[in-house]
Amino acid sequence: MKEMCDVIIIGTGPAGLSAAVYAGRARLKALVLEKEYVSGGQIVTTTEVDNYLGLPGINGFDMAMKFREHAVSMGAEFAEGKVTGIERTGDNWCVQTEDGQYLTRSVVISTGASHRMLGIPGEKELKGRGVSYCATCDGAFFRERTAAVIGGGDVAVEDAIFLSRLCKKVYLIHRRDSLRAVKLMSDRVQQLENVEILWNTVPLRIEGEEQVTGLLVRMLPDGEERLLALDGVFIAVGMVPNVMGVPEEILDGEQGYVAAGEDGKTALPGIYAAGDVRTKRVRQIATAVSDGANVIASVEEYLNVAGNFWKTNPPC
Ligand code: NAP
Repeated sequence: MKEMCDVIIIGTGPAGLSAAVYAGRARLKALVLEKEYVSGGQIVTTTEVDNYLGLPGINGFDMAMKFREHAVSMGAEFAEGKVTGIERTGDNWCVQTEDGQYLTRSVVISTGASHRMLGIPGEKELKGRGVSYCATCDGAFFRERTAAVIGGGDVAVEDAIFLSRLCKKVYLIHRRDSLRAVKLMSDRVQQLENVEILWNTVPLRIEGEEQVTGLLVRMLPDGEERLLALDGVFIAVGMVPNVMGVPEEILDGEQGYVAAGEDGKTALPGIYAAGDVRTKRVRQIATAVSDGANVIASVEEYLNVAGNFWKTNPPC
């Protein structure tokens, strides 16, 4: 068992690192747990972030490093560990990882979300051999080739636009007749000459032995099947929250996100959630950073009320 913390922040995406900065300002004894060295969250694999105020077009990896440096400069301490459980012990919480246990007065869960799998034959078998969940990471392998993007949200549309600059031809395959993505990007993708949108189309099977060679789809409503010859399939059908080890009673029953409002408070006193892992409408870097600030305000309030805060932070 390690030394008692005021707060353990789980996750090093924008929400977790923002929380670490605010915890530093509040002079809390904080420990940031990351599942592997410099995990950084989803932005690490984003080529270009064009909607963060004041930093238009910044590379996602560079942004993640800046966030981390900022947290370090505010005194954040990091430890590696995959969280397997969070349990109450008396008035405190014990965070269990694969490598050890940490005792803390409060916990901020900022573990983000991961790519959802489509669940069709060929997906698992051909992952890394033509099936990808990250256009910006793997797009370069498909230069002058043909690829499909599956999905109709922001990620799918952004991926299709990104791939259109590299690939000879891109299919955007969506199960409905209208896109979920923001209008500006939806309009843009529909104007691209080498992007063909297949509306009302459901992917059935990814074909290929060593590498992807095609995608079998069903066109609705008549149910006609069509085999598309392809080199790559990019799956962008949403995210699932990373809630491994999180107590079930604070998960939202429908989608499995941590049920918490803007203040980050969950149904368990002392446990907070910030960023993409919590129930919220807009999952963006800006809102994750904002969550980091809000959640530490809640943590400070909790530690003061609980009478614990001044034990480790005596007033000057
Ligand atoms: P999303 O908005 O949830 O969209 C997922 C898409 O996949 C939807 O179009 C959905 O279809 C489709 N889909 C889901 N399950 C499917 C299945 N089994 N078969 C076929 N299609 C399926 O997810 P996202 O695009 O990953 O975005 C995640 C979050 O990040 C969103 O809140 C998004 O706004 C945000 N984001 C924002 C930006 C930005 O603003 N720059 C960039 C990236 C992400 P239906 O439409 O029919 O449900």
